[in-house]
Amino acid sequence: MDRDGIKKTALFGYHGMNFYPEENQQDIEIIEFSRANPDRILPFICDFDFYDEKAPEYVEQLAEDGGVYGVGEVLFGHTPMRRQVFTQKQIDDDRPIEVFKAAGRCGLPVLIHADRAFRPELENAIRCCPDTNFIWAHIAYDFMAEYGGAASEISYIKKLVNDFSNVYFDISHWKISPIYLCSEDWQHLLEDSFDRFIFGMDMSEDYMLEGLWFSTYKAVLSGLSCKAQQSILAGNFMRLICLPM
Ligand SMILES: [Zn+2]
Repeated sequence: MDRDGIKKTALFGYHGMNFYPEENQQDIEIIEFSRANPDRILPFICDFDFYDEKAPEYVEQLAEDGGVYGVGEVLFGHTPMRRQVFTQKQIDDDRPIEVFKAAGRCGLPVLIHADRAFRPELENAIRCCPDTNFIWAHIAYDFMAEYGGAASEISYIKKLVNDFSNVYFDISHWKISPIYLCSEDWQHLLEDSFDRFIFGMDMSEDYMLEGLWFSTYKAVLSGLSCKAQQSILAGNFMRLICLPM
């Protein structure tokens, strides 16, 4: 963060990965870390069983006393995780929907990943939860495309922007450069709907790589108005989690 001039970041565990034998341990450590760094770390929670009947209560309780700012990143729609640990589970099953609704009641946004095959499930979940704000992770980027990623079709993203007023769009990338966001089509979309996009990075395995595309993002955003740049870099996210800039 210091290297790249990042003042604050959302931080969350890895949904579905049981790194610890104890339940909720990733969430607990992240919350503790945020308490030690309250000006910089904004904890999200995801290290719990979204199918447990107590899951909505867990979200409500942590929202009340944990200083938690969001739920996610939810990975039911992440293809390798779906194959490994979330077989037979769907984003729009009854229990996750209850969890998303609980997050909405607490004013917490839900950060969620949905590869192409799982888009209909996520759209359905969003329709079921009109009072919950969602952040659609890596919207510009199709994870499961050949050779480890490709740009998503912009027409689909425009449709989502128009269809859902409670959805925000994270523009983080992993294996491919976000340089194509400099195209005229994308620049128009980012400028026209600047209050719906959120800057992010997605180098979950190696923090040294976290800033890999940072100069590219700067190039992407440099074509936009100051207001749009400020909103995408920080303003939209801070508004979503109800923190002043
Ligand atoms: Zn993701």
